[in-house]
Amino acid sequence: KQLPADPITENYVRQVEHACFSFVTPQKTANPQMLHVSPEMLQNLGLSEIDVQSDEFKNVFTGNKVLDNTQPYAMCYGGHQFGNWAGQLGDGRAINLAEIVHNNQRWAIQLKGAGKTPYSRTADGLAVLRSSIREYLCSEAMFHLGVPTTRALSLALSGDEVLRDVLYNGNPAYEKGAIVSRIAPSFLRFGNYQLLAVRNDITTLKTLVDYTITHFYPELGAPSKESYLQFFSKVAQNSLEMVIHWQRVGFVHGVMNTDNMSILGLTIDYGPYGWLEGYDYGWTPNTTDSQHKRYRYGNQPNIVLWNLYQLANALYPLIEETEGLEAVLTDFGTAFESKYLNMMRAKIGLSTENENDQNLIQELENNLHLTETDMTIFFRNLSRFQKENPEQGISIIQDAFYTSIEDFPKITEAWTKWFEKYSLRLQLEKESNTERAEKMNTINPKYVLRNYMAQLAIDAADKGDYSMIDELFNLLKNPYSEQEDQQKWFAKRPDWARNKVGCSM
Ligand code: AMP
Ligand code: MG
Ligand code: MG
Repeated sequence: KQLPADPITENYVRQVEHACFSFVTPQKTANPQMLHVSPEMLQNLGLSEIDVQSDEFKNVFTGNKVLDNTQPYAMCYGGHQFGNWAGQLGDGRAINLAEIVHNNQRWAIQLKGAGKTPYSRTADGLAVLRSSIREYLCSEAMFHLGVPTTRALSLALSGDEVLRDVLYNGNPAYEKGAIVSRIAPSFLRFGNYQLLAVRNDITTLKTLVDYTITHFYPELGAPSKESYLQFFSKVAQNSLEMVIHWQRVGFVHGVMNTDNMSILGLTIDYGPYGWLEGYDYGWTPNTTDSQHKRYRYGNQPNIVLWNLYQLANALYPLIEETEGLEAVLTDFGTAFESKYLNMMRAKIGLSTENENDQNLIQELENNLHLTETDMTIFFRNLSRFQKENPEQGISIIQDAFYTSIEDFPKITEAWTKWFEKYSLRLQLEKESNTERAEKMNTINPKYVLRNYMAQLAIDAADKGDYSMIDELFNLLKNPYSEQEDQQKWFAKRPDWARNKVGCSM
């Protein structure tokens, strides 16, 4: 091991200093049962469908068996939660089983919900089926959408009952326990570096940064103040790429605390996340954030930048000058503006640049906020627009409106105007309507994991029917394909599902 381990191996809640992780043994499960396995991830790890049938597979990926020559561990990190420094947090219910290299790709394999660790604080180290289904389906769906993300290999029931404080009839409720095995090149977060810096443990901080560069940013070369600054710059770029993708597909993370920010720019920790239905900068799926809405859709890029400021503070002791760090943070703002603009250009099918594009896109976003307008349906249907026929614009996208705009002349007028401008703008493009549509349909997904879809899979699973997990998993493997026989999932949220978002715990 290149990183310092906690010398204490007894499993009790504690502050862990001068170490990056603690060795732990996953908790044994009563009656594990595999519910689903990702074939793509199996292949990435060099495993096969035959392996999946074995008891060993089931036991390893639910924590019942520790593989020979491996030493599972939980990582030590801190974080800013909702803007406040929270001290040591750590993997309270995640246990890394091992790291493997297959086809020159390094993967860390982690179980979520496999029992207590020194970082569990007052909680139980377990996960329930509901949140596990949400993480399993969404992380693989995000991958297929082309969004940088941690992955998932398997979803299993533990066979244990887990007590959660969701009250039915005033009684605490037991729920089915579950374990997701999640996979990423690394699960290191901003919080790993922050905690060491806050504790002024610069030796371990340097060891961790050097380790990160060696394994994940090898192009930066030997340790030096310059390469540390380059490292920060790379993390900023990767985080920016990630959040631009979130804005593109309408993903709202919900808990962008610094302990949930991957050092590789991967989407990590699928808790109370949600998908935009109505296009709304102010929307957050996180009910505990409903007052300040810190992590609302429109604020996600600002929060990435805020989190990067915290990482800059953590790396400062290794760089010892602020100019370079500040330049990276300033560049983030300008890079965001241009990348966001280009992303939105692509969403509306513009292949060239025009100085008025910014205005056109701003007006579009204003219009999308006039009445509840389904983001996914809007952009997908927009590809059917014929640049010669602006007057047909509204009829092409009207399925996206949750209430008809017929009786709202001002809204109708705003859209009519916008489609006229859009039509004129498209005349400046060389591509035919068909060519443009094809391109747009590789950027605007037809199928996303709408909040109610995950909820339907959860409700069925609670009754012992796991078929919908498989159905949604397969649907979301090809989010940009027409899949004519799956049209029912290309539809607005039904009325009963308004404000229904799953919960993280
Ligand atoms: P999150 O809000 O999911 O990022 O979690 C914040 C912190 O709480 C992390 O340190 C988690 O490991 C920890 N945590 C969340 N749920 C549990 C649980 N059921 N048992 C132990 N620790 C937990
Ligand atoms: Mg977390
Ligand atoms: Mg979480």
